[in-house]
Amino acid sequence: MITLRISQGSLDALRGAYKGLAEPRTLYLLQYSPAGCAASCTFCAQARGGDRLGRIPWPAISLQEIVSAGLEGFTRICLQTVLKPGFLEEAALIVKALSGKGVPISLASTPAPTYWLEEMKRLGVDFLGVGLDAFTPRIHLKASKPYPWATYIDYTRRALRVFGPGHVYVHLVAGLGETPSEALRLLDMLYGMGARAALFPLVSTRRPWKTLVDKRYYRRLQLAAWLLNTGRRPSDFFTERLEPTEKLLGIKGLEHAFLTQGCPGCNRPFYTERPGDMYNYPSPALLGKNLEAAMREAGLKR
Ligand code: SF4
Repeated sequence: MITLRISQGSLDALRGAYKGLAEPRTLYLLQYSPAGCAASCTFCAQARGGDRLGRIPWPAISLQEIVSAGLEGFTRICLQTVLKPGFLEEAALIVKALSGKGVPISLASTPAPTYWLEEMKRLGVDFLGVGLDAFTPRIHLKASKPYPWATYIDYTRRALRVFGPGHVYVHLVAGLGETPSEALRLLDMLYGMGARAALFPLVSTRRPWKTLVDKRYYRRLQLAAWLLNTGRRPSDFFTERLEPTEKLLGIKGLEHAFLTQGCPGCNRPFYTERPGDMYNYPSPALLGKNLEAAMREAGLKR
């Protein structure tokens, strides 16, 4: 029997007991390892064992319970791997078991062989998440990522060949020490390759209720990623230091940048932020209620 972890919000929604402000639209699963992930990324709670990831608990659940459950409320399943012996083979078994549920599947992993990616696609995975996390090779080294920077870039390229342009989301943690121009350069490079960005604000591993990145910077980063998602160039609307130009205000719908960006249906409610201090808005309704504040935080309104 395979045991997994599931985000607390996904578990509550699965069991019909969700009482929060925005239900997860994706069922978020994490591979289980009693000792946590064998990698030692400095910013990740799973590197220390226990049941936390981001700012929330991920209780254990049997794969059988998920396979037997109705998933009507979910538009996607996301399985995140951890480094442990046999994790690639186990992930393949999990994907195979879930592929009969009729729900699209995303997989987020560290660099893996191309044959495995092809197998995952054959089993029904349509989007891949790449855990690059850092915006520069310098930060990557400092954060103790398990493989060299170049290995992640090569993995992103290989994944794009397998899943196609727009189907690879590179996970990036804002606030690990990058400058705004370094962040812009990496976003440009990734979108130039055909990848997209899923942004996460840095959460304290010791005090998981605390999100550690400057809100104004994060809002502008969201805008830059959204501009790229909509086929625009951030350099046409921001200075190199991520200061907005007048032209930015002329764009219709730019508030969509403040919604969670990721695979279709990915909203990660409160994974990295408290309900009272939102970075990624998990639903248009919540964003609508806080739109003025979000625009002010971006420095686009007084
Ligand atoms: S963007 Fe969302 S659904 Fe896609 S791999 Fe990342 S966390 Fe999973």
